[in-house]
Amino acid sequence: MTGQANRIPLAEPELSGNEKRYVQECLDTGYVSSVGPFVNRFEREFAESIGGAHTVACASGTAALHVALRLAGAGTGSLVAVSTLTFIASANAAAYTGADLWLVDSEPRTWNMNTHLLHDEVVRAARAGRRFPDVVEVVHLLGHPADIEPLLDLRERFGVRIVEDAAEALGAGWSTGPLAGRHVGTVGDYGCFSFNGNKMITSGGGGMIAATDERAAAKARHLTTQARSPERGYWHDEVGYNYRMTNVAAAIGLAQLEQLPKKLSAKQRIAARYNARLEQLAVERCPHEPWATPSHWIYSILTSDPDPLIDALAKKNIEARRLWPPVHRQPPYLSSHQVGRGVADSLYQRAVSLPSSVHLSEIDQDRVLHEVIQTINRGR
Ligand SMILES: *Cc1c(COP(=O)(O)O)cnc(C)c1O
Repeated sequence: MTGQANRIPLAEPELSGNEKRYVQECLDTGYVSSVGPFVNRFEREFAESIGGAHTVACASGTAALHVALRLAGAGTGSLVAVSTLTFIASANAAAYTGADLWLVDSEPRTWNMNTHLLHDEVVRAARAGRRFPDVVEVVHLLGHPADIEPLLDLRERFGVRIVEDAAEALGAGWSTGPLAGRHVGTVGDYGCFSFNGNKMITSGGGGMIAATDERAAAKARHLTTQARSPERGYWHDEVGYNYRMTNVAAAIGLAQLEQLPKKLSAKQRIAARYNARLEQLAVERCPHEPWATPSHWIYSILTSDPDPLIDALAKKNIEARRLWPPVHRQPPYLSSHQVGRGVADSLYQRAVSLPSSVHLSEIDQDRVLHEVIQTINRGR
């Protein structure tokens, strides 16, 4: 190991704004728990930043998904279609509800759920009188919006509800076409975001539900606070959860949100520099469809043999990683129904994620690029 050069992690939070000041305010006022002014402010300003929605701050992105899926109709005896190439939390949140899963393969252009394939399968099932999903949970993987229009058609024709897993995609949206100008998480019935340490912004840990409908948001708030009755003390009208965000977390989240435009442009600059330098190599670069504005959360490439590249980077103190093994390969989901096969597996076999922290300097970007280019050229 050459340990001299400073370590370049995959994605680290940057906490250089008002985080300290706002947390100090929580400590000074004693509002450290699940009630407090920062929660409301964070919800309000977050809603504004995604172009308007009714928002409910949660303890995690997974908690947000769980509640949103339940409100969308997922439960015992129901079916939820989920992208198979995603972080396990997307599938787990659906499994918590008791629903059965359909794991939908990816398409190669955006690496997201093949919504056309799912569309055709649902139409076929409906015509044949077979069961089809009550809810589709579509992930905007690595911050690139999914091709959601076929799902809107399913909602229109069959009442299929849509939950967008936008955990990695804060700041992303559609740039052209019928959804131009819309932010991810505001097109389906519910959109869910994550503020885990490595996401676009962090609150230490946390999530957000964005609902298009005010009544739905009120129900979500109710479920995240133990389904507590507003009229009668310690009275709970259904099984709820302790899923609310704390004021301390919201204080950090708000300070981070203030920096979102800067973080987004930093991620864009990193992606542009990586793109320009990797163009001439025999690697496929991160998707960027002309109709999409990605968040560029984590820059990833496809190469025929990821492990030697990851090892070579590790020797230079640079962290690179593979993507998640698809959900249909994970032990709890081996018997789930699969829609389509092969693309998610192939992406998983070839993908490598490169350092993408917002404060990654150009010198460090060039260090990464140098190693990637050398290693790939050596392997040819
Ligand atoms: C991070 C992530 C989640 C879960 O969010 P947490 O805040 O860690 O619970 C869900 N889905 C995807 C795609 C994620 O990347």
